[in-house]
Amino acid sequence: TMTIQIKNLAKTYSGDGVATTALRDVNLTLHHKEFTAIVGPSGSGKSTLLQLIGTLDVPTAGTIFYDDVDVSKLRGNALADFRFAQIGFIFQHFHLLPTLTALENVMSPLFPRKVGYDKKGRAQELLDWVGLSHKQNALPSQLSGGEQQRVAIARALVNRPKWLLADEPTGNLDSNNGEMVFQLLRKYQQEHGSGIVFVTHDEHLAGRTDRRIEMRDGSMIADTMRVSS
Ligand code: ADP
Ligand code: ADP
Repeated sequence: TMTIQIKNLAKTYSGDGVATTALRDVNLTLHHKEFTAIVGPSGSGKSTLLQLIGTLDVPTAGTIFYDDVDVSKLRGNALADFRFAQIGFIFQHFHLLPTLTALENVMSPLFPRKVGYDKKGRAQELLDWVGLSHKQNALPSQLSGGEQQRVAIARALVNRPKWLLADEPTGNLDSNNGEMVFQLLRKYQQEHGSGIVFVTHDEHLAGRTDRRIEMRDGSMIADTMRVSS
């Protein structure tokens, strides 16, 4: 899909009788080939926005369209298939499966699926792409944080999604490893024309993307395109 259109998006969490409004009336169109950073203080709604865009949670109000597909209409297998084809997700804490090797982690989204390519070959290709072929038999506990995040990136990209959503992917890494992760996101965008949406606290990295969206108290308060000279 080419664009994600977000209209009047709102999210209120209600648990234990306390309601928290995490997002209020967000309107936004994301474009493929664009590298978008979402910044803002802790609690401003960045993760909530990313989870809604990624169909990991459902909004309280508003709509999200991937081209002409209203994702709120998708359920069960149709939703799982849509996500598999369209969306890759990476997180601050990697979320690798601890009992699987690096290669098995990269293959894991493919295990339950029928695909038109060789699963192991594809996973090896992605591990090679992130520079970790030599670690394919290592367990996550035997890898550094930067290596674990690169495995997580390979896993997120194994089916070549149209959109890569990244929630503070450099938040747990030193600046060298953070830079390596940032470069991989950029490289994927350039090689595949995909859309990257990148939540970050790092203004320095945000300043190097194509577009900077700033959140405050659940609202979008700025949306700046970088003018390329
Ligand atoms: P950010 O990513 O900018 O730190 P979040 O989207 O995580 O912001 O959180 C926005 C607000 O929603 C915060 O007040 C947070 O505590 C609250 N929140 C986030 N997730 C949940 C949840 N699952 N249940 C209840 N409140 C939540
Ligand atoms: P981290 O930054 O360590 O990844 P987050 O603050 O983003 O952790 O939150 C991790 C998980 O907890 C998320 O799924 C988020 O939705 C949930 N969460 C965040 N704030 C709250 C809250 N106030 N109440 C319940 N769950 C929350």
